[in-house]
Amino acid sequence: MAEFIDTHAHLYDQAFSKDITEVIQRLEEAGVSHCVLPGIDISAYEPMIALAKSRPDLFSPCIGLHPTSVGEDWEKELNFVKKHARDHRFVAIGEIGIDKYWSTEYLTQQTRVFAEQLTLAAELNLPVIIHLRNSTEEIFQVLSDLRGIPLRGVFHAFSGSYETYKRILKHGDFKVGIGGVSTYKNAGVAATLEKISLDDIVLETDAPWLTPVPFRGKRNESSYLVHIAANIASIKGVPIETVATATTNNARKLFSL
Ligand SMILES: [Zn+2]
Repeated sequence: MAEFIDTHAHLYDQAFSKDITEVIQRLEEAGVSHCVLPGIDISAYEPMIALAKSRPDLFSPCIGLHPTSVGEDWEKELNFVKKHARDHRFVAIGEIGIDKYWSTEYLTQQTRVFAEQLTLAAELNLPVIIHLRNSTEEIFQVLSDLRGIPLRGVFHAFSGSYETYKRILKHGDFKVGIGGVSTYKNAGVAATLEKISLDDIVLETDAPWLTPVPFRGKRNESSYLVHIAANIASIKGVPIETVATATTNNARKLFSL
């Protein structure tokens, strides 16, 4: 059976509190052998660690301050990340980035928090998981300012153009995370995907959000990764096994799984 890795799943979210056992059973039946759990903020930390400890063979946690959690308490939140980054075997610093979609009130702080966490990742020799929303130029500005420090990671929920993808590659060893959005009708990223090498793609659900077709509108879960992989396979005209093998290898290498 094809083996998949979900490189972005918030399975510790409250949305799964009632049926996580069944969710785990379904993802294992679907061939998902591992899930990377991105961090968000202090409030999400304990549930994430608890889930990761319950099945260390299946879950790998990350630590990071999500841009939409950058607010009044941003210094306390950032210090928490810095203080605890060595506590567990975190496989990445993430998710981190800049989000201008929800609010620009703390844009200055978001930018600083992003830059400091990139620097932290380089110090710890960890990959980063980057969240970019309505902030392409701001993200590239930070990456340009930090030019010279060794960066690697993933641009999560990538939905950009081929030109943006080429720009990303100039700033480090980056993959693009492809999820449910790529299955939506008229998704611009489908055209981009035709030109992106399978060597640069990792799969992700972003569960419980960004549910792929044919489940769009429902809660997302890691077993749906198969539908994302099948869609990529049809766009690229290759068997789904080819997508599974390439993306699983990429994920293992990137996150040292
Ligand atoms: Zn996420």
